[in-house]
Amino acid sequence: MNPITLQNYAEGKWIAGSGGMAELRSAINGDVVALTSSQGLDFSAMLNFACNHGGPALRALTFHDRAKLLKALAEALTARKEELYELSYNTGATRADSWIDIDGGIGTFAVYQGKGRRELPNERILIDGALEALSRNGTFQGLHVYTSLQGAAVHINAFNFPVWGMLEKLAPTFLAGVPAIVKPASATSYLTEAAVRIMLEANVLPKGALQLIVGSTGDLFDHLTCQDVVSFTGSAQTAAKLKSHPVIQRESVRFVAEQDSLNASVLGPDVTPDAPEFDLFVKEVAREMTAKAGQKCTAIRRALVPAGLLDAVQDALIARLEKTTPGDPRDEATRMGALVSISQREDVRAKVAELARDASIVFGDPKASPVNEKGAFISPVLLRCDRPWEARAVHDVEAFGPVSTLVPYKDGADVIALANRGKGSLVMSVFTHDTTFARDVVLGSGAYHGRLAFIDRDSVKESTGHGSPMPHMIHGGPGRAGGGEELGGIRGVTHYMQRSALQGNPRVLSAVVNRYVAGMPVEEATQHPFRRKFHDLPIGYQLKTKSREITLEDIEHFAHFTGDTFYAHMDEVAAAANPLFGGRVAHGYLILAFAAGLFVDPDPGPVLANYGLDNLRFVKPVKPGDAIQVALTVKDKTLRKPDQGEVRWDVVVTNRDGDTVAAYDLLTMNAA
Ligand code: NAP
Repeated sequence: MNPITLQNYAEGKWIAGSGGMAELRSAINGDVVALTSSQGLDFSAMLNFACNHGGPALRALTFHDRAKLLKALAEALTARKEELYELSYNTGATRADSWIDIDGGIGTFAVYQGKGRRELPNERILIDGALEALSRNGTFQGLHVYTSLQGAAVHINAFNFPVWGMLEKLAPTFLAGVPAIVKPASATSYLTEAAVRIMLEANVLPKGALQLIVGSTGDLFDHLTCQDVVSFTGSAQTAAKLKSHPVIQRESVRFVAEQDSLNASVLGPDVTPDAPEFDLFVKEVAREMTAKAGQKCTAIRRALVPAGLLDAVQDALIARLEKTTPGDPRDEATRMGALVSISQREDVRAKVAELARDASIVFGDPKASPVNEKGAFISPVLLRCDRPWEARAVHDVEAFGPVSTLVPYKDGADVIALANRGKGSLVMSVFTHDTTFARDVVLGSGAYHGRLAFIDRDSVKESTGHGSPMPHMIHGGPGRAGGGEELGGIRGVTHYMQRSALQGNPRVLSAVVNRYVAGMPVEEATQHPFRRKFHDLPIGYQLKTKSREITLEDIEHFAHFTGDTFYAHMDEVAAAANPLFGGRVAHGYLILAFAAGLFVDPDPGPVLANYGLDNLRFVKPVKPGDAIQVALTVKDKTLRKPDQGEVRWDVVVTNRDGDTVAAYDLLTMNAA
């Protein structure tokens, strides 16, 4: 096969490098599969192109529009994913490995498009938290909001996930309304380039939303500003170098790093050899060692085991590893493919030699070249470190391949302290059925790990396992792991936005965020709001109901009808002794039901369904003889389908004195 010449995608055009081509070789047989270079690119112009075209176009879209883009891109990638699977063999990945990368990446887009439509408003400004009361009379209030950064997101990715690595960063970036410049690791950039082509050929992205650099980033960093973000995944060494770039420092450019990580997995002190967690642990350590030939940022590098079980775990692990011989990834029977390159294999061998100063190799020969001489194949290597407190390398050195070290511990406190010696990791898994130990681990070790996965007999069938970062959950970790945070659902979107504190009169705040803010001037309803269709309901349109007295008879009737005869509603003496009530009070649910009775317009109309309440609070008790009145105000609206939209109503129930007795958001689905 002739090598392909990769192209950069810059300023809306595919451009091959003008010289200095680097050869990219197949992990399986060493053949040159691609040539790559970014020589000749105008990196400053690429940033300008992103800022002048991609940014404004994406920012003009709402979160829901951007979510639709992700959906369309996911569909385009799914339709052509076999092209990616085919290329992926050259990276040394088996089909199962590629599934994590390719389908895992597309899945991340799918999750983000769903979250974007469900959890974000159909808006361009995102509100963070509740209104903050800053003044006695409510004329000056506070609100936190996020707006899109106005620069570019520069994504620098590691070689091990050429597709997922790109898509997990692009999903929150696009949702945030920020254009991206992607720079994949050279070794596997042919796969990233193919995925970028598929996305661009889907023809849904605005001009300038996505650019690609296949090769060096040249002088790109010299032109970054405070509106750009660098999201980096790779080695600690490169992260340190890039982070200390003078422009990053001077301009306070956001720099998110995901780097080396000495992830641990703990077999709990409660586990015996015949407990289900024993086998689950052994299986997971073996799986994490061999999936993607151990080239996973989350792979288990230290397997922490009760000292008394060390031999038993070692034997069981070796029995599994013996069955995982490396082989050609195209062969369906192969359970472990190759490392990405010969130089990566040299690196792994060097790191194993360092580890072997503290530990002994109990399985595998790191020097052997199984399968063939030209490919980057290596055997899984299991080490055992009997004196972990005297060891250094085991807690400091990451061999980025199918390598793990067994580490014994004495007791719960000892294993927590040993886990923390990794100085910060992306993930730690704990195989235990003991909930007290689980809590001790979180209290003692949570601060050192970005993610803690508890796996036991009850969760295993549905568990996503130790190694999979889920788009819903944060990915990143403190210290050695880089101190960065990605994903985590909508949290990840905000990494590409600026949070600002807004202070002002509710009228101004409401107009800015396009949402009802308490204290703003309202439009008194001239027509019942339930008679109005979605599009005819302005924010701040308010119905004030008549008032209704609540009698003792009402309370007793409600109690017997619903079966809720709680003493506070039924027994005057007992209720009088209650320090909060000092006598019988109406049920909270009676107030809700009566409130609905006051504000509902009964005839068929545009309100199709009431589907819930949010943020309900019963603020003050209502005693027999008191009266309630309701203010129902249009708070927020989200079109869900062309002919239907969700209306969020602010509901405030007051008593005779005008004091709030209950407050909540009511959600209805309305015809548009
Ligand atoms: P790397 O050598 O640090 O490279 C990472 C990325 O940085 C590549 O795209 C690389 O491009 C780029 N790069 C290198 N020098 C640069 C420079 N001076 N300016 C701009 N970009 C530069 O790491 P790797 O070998 O690809 O990946 C292996 C390492 O990544 C392992 O240590 C592993 O622990 C870590 N990793 C961490 C995570 C995580 O999520 N925490 C995930 C995967 C991997 P070139 O390839 O073109 O040099």
